[in-house]
Amino acid sequence: MELRLEPVSLNLRTTFRVAHGASDQRHNVVVRLTQDGLTGSGEAAAVFYYGDTQESLMAYLRTLPDLGRDPFALETILARLPVGPQAAKAAVDMALHDLCGQMLGQPLYRLFGLAPEPLPETSFTIGIDEPELMAERARQSGYPIIKIKVGTQHDEAVVSAIRRVTNARLRVDANAGWSREQALDLIPRLAEYDLELVEQPLPVKDEEGYLWLKQKLRQQGIKTPIFADESVRTSRDVVKLAAGLDGVVVKLMKTGGLREALRCIHTARAHGLQIMFSCMIESSLGVTAAAHLAPLCDYLDLDGPLLIANDPFQGVRYAGAKLTLPAGPGLGVSAVSSQ
Ligand code: MG
Repeated sequence: MELRLEPVSLNLRTTFRVAHGASDQRHNVVVRLTQDGLTGSGEAAAVFYYGDTQESLMAYLRTLPDLGRDPFALETILARLPVGPQAAKAAVDMALHDLCGQMLGQPLYRLFGLAPEPLPETSFTIGIDEPELMAERARQSGYPIIKIKVGTQHDEAVVSAIRRVTNARLRVDANAGWSREQALDLIPRLAEYDLELVEQPLPVKDEEGYLWLKQKLRQQGIKTPIFADESVRTSRDVVKLAAGLDGVVVKLMKTGGLREALRCIHTARAHGLQIMFSCMIESSLGVTAAAHLAPLCDYLDLDGPLLIANDPFQGVRYAGAKLTLPAGPGLGVSAVSSQ
């Protein structure tokens, strides 16, 4: 298979601020794998808190050994990839799946044995800003599910301001921005505003913290589901943290692609956990790959393309919060034709 790399720059519709930092533009990498006249595509998102940049992802991908001629040897090919960034591996994994689907003439969800509907609706993310501005953005969006980024001094004011202007289902994502004590103080207060769930309330490395937090919250009668995102990258992490969690957030850029994402989902189910499928700032290429596993999930947070002003791809389609999977073979993604 011939491998080609294309850097892409994604312009964000509004400055995106989370507990880790802020950005207006993201720089991802598109991987193309060509075999027998067909080309599979995948995307690697450069996530700064994992230490990745567009350059480092490209540098790793340039070092890859020959991947052979058979994309169906997925497990073998992926197992032989050298140690490197999960996002880069995810792009290779996506491109291989895309190629397999194209060779068989079937969309990916069918290869996974899944029906394309019904799918859970996706949330729409409101980045950190002044409480009133966040509330205005939530109101204007009109989305029925809002994910609120928190992790500042004003978290309760933010959630309260947003609740005043919308009846939407509200999810809160602290992006590891709270300590144990802050989480224990804030979650019961925020629960008053009828939260659907709380994502990553604790620091990434605080593996014992989840069980501690769950027990303390349950003692107070607080049942708000707690999900881990940054703390859970692969199925091994699901096993380590399961006892303290209600659910996990799965992302292709953490798992290194669809194969390990599927293992994460099954591992989480085996532990009685719920699953949210989410994305980084990714174009319709990466997000469509994720969406092919959406029928297996309870919650979706696949709003990447909605946050980007210059999406170079079309794939999964949005009607408000409702996603429709493309019916084309493989990922079913195509380039947006330039005017
Ligand atoms: Mg998150």
